[in-house]
Amino acid sequence: MADTLTSPVLAGTSNRPNIYHNFIDGEWVEASTGETFENRNPADTRDVVGIFQRSAKADVDQAIDAARQAFLKWRLVPAPRRAEIIYTAAEMLAERKEDYARDMTREMGKVLKETRGDVQEAVDTAYYMAGEGRRMFGPTTPSELPNKFAMAVRHPLGVCAMITPWNFPIAIPSWKLLPALVCGNTCVIKPAQDTPLSTFNLVRTLVDAGVPKGVVNIVTGFGSETGAPMLEHPEVRAVSFTGSSAVGRTIGTTSAKSFKHCSLELGGKNPMIVLDDANLELALEGALWGAFGTTGQRCTATSRIIVQKGVYHKFVHSLVDRARKLRVGNGLDESIDMGPAVNEKQLQTDLEYVEIGKQEGAKLACGGNRLEKGDHAHGWFMEPTVFMDVNPKMRIAQEEIFGPVVSVIPCENFEDAIQIANNIEYGLSSAIYTRDVNKAFSAMRDLYAGITYINAPTIGAEVHLPFGGVKATGNGHREGGIGAIDFYTEWKSVYVDYSDRLQRAQIDRPE
Ligand code: NAD
Repeated sequence: MADTLTSPVLAGTSNRPNIYHNFIDGEWVEASTGETFENRNPADTRDVVGIFQRSAKADVDQAIDAARQAFLKWRLVPAPRRAEIIYTAAEMLAERKEDYARDMTREMGKVLKETRGDVQEAVDTAYYMAGEGRRMFGPTTPSELPNKFAMAVRHPLGVCAMITPWNFPIAIPSWKLLPALVCGNTCVIKPAQDTPLSTFNLVRTLVDAGVPKGVVNIVTGFGSETGAPMLEHPEVRAVSFTGSSAVGRTIGTTSAKSFKHCSLELGGKNPMIVLDDANLELALEGALWGAFGTTGQRCTATSRIIVQKGVYHKFVHSLVDRARKLRVGNGLDESIDMGPAVNEKQLQTDLEYVEIGKQEGAKLACGGNRLEKGDHAHGWFMEPTVFMDVNPKMRIAQEEIFGPVVSVIPCENFEDAIQIANNIEYGLSSAIYTRDVNKAFSAMRDLYAGITYINAPTIGAEVHLPFGGVKATGNGHREGGIGAIDFYTEWKSVYVDYSDRLQRAQIDRPE
């Protein structure tokens, strides 16, 4: 291990970017490997956002050991005091919102209004979780025996490992770190290699707010090198993962071997239904935002639009017209509507799916091309893309693309729409546009997904409601709100017998 550093960042010069460190046991440190990796701006790959530590098992082990030691004290800090620190972090995050949003746009490309929203989501989560410090209610209940008291209390789990994706690089880590901390757990987080800076900014804020040494640790690096060792470590009691279903399957099976709690928030292929009676203007606005917001790189992105035949042609033509007008470019420019793909690999995936769609016989209604001239010359930009006349069985309608490519699927009626919407591997978000209250309520019941929106697109979750999905989208846990408290605590049932005699449950039956 390199010498301990006193500063989180080695400031760069005009031709040398900043170097960022891991945070382990209250110290900013280099990785044991002595290796680093570059974080580049996807809107202009000449711009190196920073240099980050390429960590290995030894760094992860050290962070977990620090977290294990810190847990012994942190679990005993009263929850309302833990909550005060989180409240302070909320206030600091709000003050730093603009700077952190700019860092985020620079490292992952989404436009400034969205990165401001990402930081705001962490602020909201922090305020909510700070409130939980004075709740964390458990049931007290009558005992079946006389002179006996019964209750259940929440206990923290211990060391929690967190592995996060790049698309919400402050919001998603906040959904994990903040509830875990208020419940009295200690944490080791490994952010996605495309967005270490944003998670670094969040951890730095927690440290500045007063989280004690060892309670939060950040170790940057690659999935197989830095993420994988967390899953095998016997001291890790819980793993919280957000990312692709493919990696999630590995995380789930590996964590299960040592009986770790494991929360998986995975992929989506989210349907929006537009019925003949919909407010078409509202549906179009929602479709555009749902499909192309964050360059289609949201787990909740609207990627299938199922439109009833009466309004189908009018809807598609208006959607195409609007998609063509979206301004694509560097998200730091306030006039831009859609930023780049996060990296070259994601752009290649998006373009490959365009070819797959064409080969499958879907009609490319607009877009489909890389943008690489002028202002786009140094970034991973692509045109907003709409496929129409898509058959729901096609790969572009079944597989998560995670880019600005949306499939419009015609349908006969409400029942047909629900059937198409549900006939998919995933089940994260869903939406329906209709003015018929009976159909809206039927959809709320029949759409098989973790989230359903009525007359709003599939994106836009609020932090105090449960967030997560069914089928290949997860393993039954929820983030957001009280669901997160449930994940980061274990119930202990406590019985106090003040009868001064042996009383046997189920055997001694009082008269
Ligand atoms: P990813 O699965 O490639 O990576 C996610 C994280 O896992 C990264 O930090 C990565 O380094 C790490 N990782 C990769 N391989 C690993 C391994 N073998 N062991 C341990 N860690 C490993 O996903 P991504 O490309 O960063 O994010 C996009 C995916 O995330 C999409 O599928 C999207 O739908 C999903 N997502 C889901 C939600 C949700 O809440 N349901 C939210 C956002 C994103």
